[in-house]
Amino acid sequence: MKLERDVETVGTGFDDASGHNNRGVHLPEQLGIQWVLQPRGTSRVRGPQHFRHSVREGVRLSDYEHVLGADEEALRHLFPGGVARLWGSTPPVRQKSDKVTALAGRRVDDEVLFYAGKKFVAKARILGLFRNRALAEAVWGLDDDRKTWEHIMALGDVSEFEVPAEPVLRALRIPVPLRSLTLASAEDRRRCLDQAEHPKPLVPSQGAPRDQTAEHRPTFGRDDLFRSLSRLRTHTKERRPSRHKPITLLWAIGRLVAEQDRMVGWDEFSSEVGPLLRDFGLPGSRVTPEYPFWHLRSSGLWSVEGLKQSSSPTPSQLTAAQASAGLTKDAARVLRRALARADAIGLLCSRYLGDVDRDELLERVGLAGYATASGEAPDRGSAEAGPDRRSVTSTQPVRDPKLVERIKVMYRHECQVCGSRVETRYSHYSEAAHIRGVGKPHEGPDELSNLLSLCPNHHVEFDRLAIYIDEDWAVRRNSTGAVDYQLKLHADHVISQEHLRYHRGLCGRI
Ligand SMILES: [Zn+2]
Repeated sequence: MKLERDVETVGTGFDDASGHNNRGVHLPEQLGIQWVLQPRGTSRVRGPQHFRHSVREGVRLSDYEHVLGADEEALRHLFPGGVARLWGSTPPVRQKSDKVTALAGRRVDDEVLFYAGKKFVAKARILGLFRNRALAEAVWGLDDDRKTWEHIMALGDVSEFEVPAEPVLRALRIPVPLRSLTLASAEDRRRCLDQAEHPKPLVPSQGAPRDQTAEHRPTFGRDDLFRSLSRLRTHTKERRPSRHKPITLLWAIGRLVAEQDRMVGWDEFSSEVGPLLRDFGLPGSRVTPEYPFWHLRSSGLWSVEGLKQSSSPTPSQLTAAQASAGLTKDAARVLRRALARADAIGLLCSRYLGDVDRDELLERVGLAGYATASGEAPDRGSAEAGPDRRSVTSTQPVRDPKLVERIKVMYRHECQVCGSRVETRYSHYSEAAHIRGVGKPHEGPDELSNLLSLCPNHHVEFDRLAIYIDEDWAVRRNSTGAVDYQLKLHADHVISQEHLRYHRGLCGRI
């Protein structure tokens, strides 16, 4: 991969019409920021899914170590947190085309505008450009022509919004709709920047302009919560983000579920959070509950009361001030909703706590049910576990045995994931799995739209969040996002996308 300069020294945005970067360094005219107009692709080519997977969420480099090859060092340099935002293109078919020109002419620092449905829906900055077929195939798979997106862009400063694309494309004399990767020169970009400005952020705004006075500000909602959760600023130690803040947030969500007070005094906080940080923090990191107690404020989700100072307080200062801290009222309000809570727990675990024994951690903070789709605390391999475990230890309401029978018969005991049937001496065996567990904490309904017929292995993988089902019924592996299978569907079986979405939230895949 070619890095044209240190990523620390660059930065741009829509407000940068001047050819200056954020540090005020003037870029030579011929090297001004260009626009790379990038169709995001329709669901037919899995565009939205790929965008979600490799740009919005980003891919974990550790999952792709085997295919990074010579690009590994540069990628790790660009993405020190270990999560890379990537987009790619298949090799062009013709010798001369807009795509050929764009692939050859785009540069590090250029701005990518993602196009979908006659709108620009996101922008990003190019951090690096490289070609890596093995990585592309692992991240996005092969298309029908056995091609893959091997011309890869590493992306930074991703933001999503919606702005009509037609005026911009017309001004650039590019046909609408945009069909191919196309490059617009720095000069054209400067000329048309006005039309692409003031994008409507996808997120808060309910019609009110953003620079209004406080009373007109849109209320804090789910999207605000998620933006904050996905951008927690964490210390890094040997390139690994510290776990203090995400662990503390999980602990606070656990209190919310247990209907305990939102604000907690410092002494109680340190006696509860301290041991969690000791047991689940990065190996070798110091146990400093005062750090998240104070610094979580920067997330916008956390408030501290009783302290006037503006610098980091010491534990004794916190004790003396009788300081207390907790989730803000807004954050707590959103997190009381079941779906947002499941999403938040899934996101915190998958984004920041990948190496942690999350079953154990969730159990310690009172969220054990969130470690599984069924809502049952994961059985940790104890000897007495057996097929009857549910009837013995379950707190779940009785399930309708007729429904269970119906789903098994409908699929003739075949697994909807792998298609296999477990043979028994006189018949076959399968398991009926709730997508969103009935009873606490998930409160899913006991109905056919919330059931799957699965083999025992895939039942465990689905319940323990190792696999999930995306909007196109692809069964994906949660650790990598790779497609394992296509879900088998009976014509009479209407599965609720809403329940699958809840399950994806638990998987940290929203
Ligand atoms: Zn199976």
